[in-house]
Amino acid sequence: MDKKQERELAGRMVEEIQRLAEGQGKLRFMEVCGTHTVSIFRAGIRQLLPENVELVSGPGCPVCVTADDYMDLAIAYAKREDVIITTFGDMLKVPGSRSSLGEAMAEGADIRIVYSPLDSLQVAKDNPGKKVVFLAVGFETTAPTAAATVLAAEQQGIGNLYLLSAQKLVPPALRMLLNDPEVHVDGFLLPGHVAVVTGTEVFDFLAEEYHMPGIVTGFEPLEILRSLCRLLQQKREGRAEVGNEYGSVVRKEGNPVSRRILEQVYEPVDANWRGIGRIEKSGLRMKEAYRQFDIRQVLPLAVASVQKKTACRCGEVLRGIVTPYDCPLFGKACVPTHAIGPCMVSVEGVCAAWYKYGSGRFTYGR
Ligand code: SF4
Repeated sequence: MDKKQERELAGRMVEEIQRLAEGQGKLRFMEVCGTHTVSIFRAGIRQLLPENVELVSGPGCPVCVTADDYMDLAIAYAKREDVIITTFGDMLKVPGSRSSLGEAMAEGADIRIVYSPLDSLQVAKDNPGKKVVFLAVGFETTAPTAAATVLAAEQQGIGNLYLLSAQKLVPPALRMLLNDPEVHVDGFLLPGHVAVVTGTEVFDFLAEEYHMPGIVTGFEPLEILRSLCRLLQQKREGRAEVGNEYGSVVRKEGNPVSRRILEQVYEPVDANWRGIGRIEKSGLRMKEAYRQFDIRQVLPLAVASVQKKTACRCGEVLRGIVTPYDCPLFGKACVPTHAIGPCMVSVEGVCAAWYKYGSGRFTYGR
């Protein structure tokens, strides 16, 4: 399909969305994934929707939901002479309760930017006298690669490679949102990247237990528009199903190899989500057989986080209760080059996306 045909098809889908939305009350759909947030902004989809259909952003940016006590712990490890931290670059600016990894790096901490957890293996091989700690942050999408790194370290006899895990699971977060009386959502655009690994079945509880429609969605504008049509169709007919509009890569059962690796290395654990709090069984920690790769087990550190008083509203932003525009710091004290909260740090952070792309529609929550 060429660009002209794509535009024509998009136009027909927008008309279909308008037709399906007509006569329905106000509807609020949540895009869970940060990549969706950026795609929606880039394509200007919010502005194409009828007045009664709104898109709200959810807790699907891994950097945004990484709690400050985790960052404090990572900084404490980074400051040790015997530790090298490996991490993705956007973690450097994420605030802890007192400082950031970037500040620790400026003060001399040995922090290396990697593009894959597997890069940490070479750092560990090159530095046998140091403990190399990979900051394992992310969702089901990236967790298999971190688990594969642990398995590779075991296979290669690398004894100085560890993870500091803050990896999280999306389905328990959706359950938390649906149990939260402050959150009002009528359907979900479900994260395609996560579903590649998990499959669609893990989201079936949305329809079965909450009568909530959800569509696993790809990242192209046409895929997002088609998914919105399907959500609206279900609302119109009073149905609730979990569908798949990313069928080219997402299967019902997910990726069996990735799922097997995840189940081999990790087990679910309660986890702290920034601004949201503790969610039952929403995190991943290493199973007993792999605890020698868990830096918390090998080198436990007691770090007291400071309770900060700040006007940052990330917690509410991540639950779709307010928009970034409702935060008094947005675009003033808090900008991408000087982020006060984590939602402004990553390019996929909700506040960063709103700051970069703006929007003609900021009415939800009112
Ligand atoms: S604009 Fe900044 S301070 Fe406000 S909610 Fe977003 S990240 Fe937090």
